[in-house]
Amino acid sequence: MTSSGRRKTIVVLGSSNTDMVVRTPRIPRPGETVLGGEFLMAPGGKGANQAVAAARAGGDVHFIARVGDDVFGRQSLDGFISAGIHVERIVQDRQAPSGVALIIVGPDGENCIAVASGANARLSVADVQEAKSVIASADIVLMQLESPLETVQEAMEIAASAGVPVVLNPAPARALSDRILKRVAYLTPNETEAEILTGISLIKKSDLAKAADILLAKGTKAVLITLGAKGVYVAAKEKREVVPAFKVIPVDTTAAGDAFSGALAVALAEGRPLLKAARFANAAAALATTKMGAQPSLAARTDIEKLLG
Ligand code: ADP
Repeated sequence: MTSSGRRKTIVVLGSSNTDMVVRTPRIPRPGETVLGGEFLMAPGGKGANQAVAAARAGGDVHFIARVGDDVFGRQSLDGFISAGIHVERIVQDRQAPSGVALIIVGPDGENCIAVASGANARLSVADVQEAKSVIASADIVLMQLESPLETVQEAMEIAASAGVPVVLNPAPARALSDRILKRVAYLTPNETEAEILTGISLIKKSDLAKAADILLAKGTKAVLITLGAKGVYVAAKEKREVVPAFKVIPVDTTAAGDAFSGALAVALAEGRPLLKAARFANAAAALATTKMGAQPSLAARTDIEKLLG
């Protein structure tokens, strides 16, 4: 909460899925059935994870998304409402089912995933235009790349003309045009995504600076390359610094990156300086690794503050 007490408005645009996870003694080969698995169903999708992360971290969150008019879509909506998220801009699509991710996890955490995007693939430019006033009056807009690129781009244009900063978590990894990168105030790739965006292999510490320089030269104000258990490399015009991760005992790192971006958006919207915002995001992300699942593992503000000390 800020000194004025008003929670900051975070608009998140992105995907919502239902993750169906089966743990098996080994990953089946094509044509093979493997018995003995344990089943877990949990809400997921990068957009939804980041919306919930931002809400738990203290943001007043509006989520722009599409779900199907089916049991999974209704369950997701119920979850968002109980997290205190505004759901007026979530379309219940009658023509497409809710997004589903089928995940098989082998004994050593190795996995194999098939995603049916369903309604997520139909989040349209028109949906964004209908949410124009919500986007234009936000303190910050947060997006990822599990939605159609033209839709993400339209939201960026609206945010830019209203002077609202955009946080882009460029996941899943793909190359992006300069036109998109120049609209991004804060970019949060992990190492793989940074390599794909820049063509630089991140082997030495100096490679991080090289990759960040390329991205900053395209007009992005700050680049935060997440480094897993090592923390995050933060680069802006006048700084280059690794903000170390918090020491925790990780149980499941699913959604650590989503926790990071969601909490970062809240901290920046509240006016924290970049390095302090990165530390806040590291705390939220570390906590997310200490519990199983995507959305169930996302931390509440009080726990983030406790870890920050
Ligand atoms: P992604 O999950 O998107 O691949 P990372 O693995 O880089 O992203 O993790 C994102 C953030 O989560 C890191 O910057 C860090 O703050 C936190 N994190 C990830 N793994 C750990 C860990 N083992 N211990 C503490 N924090 C972690």
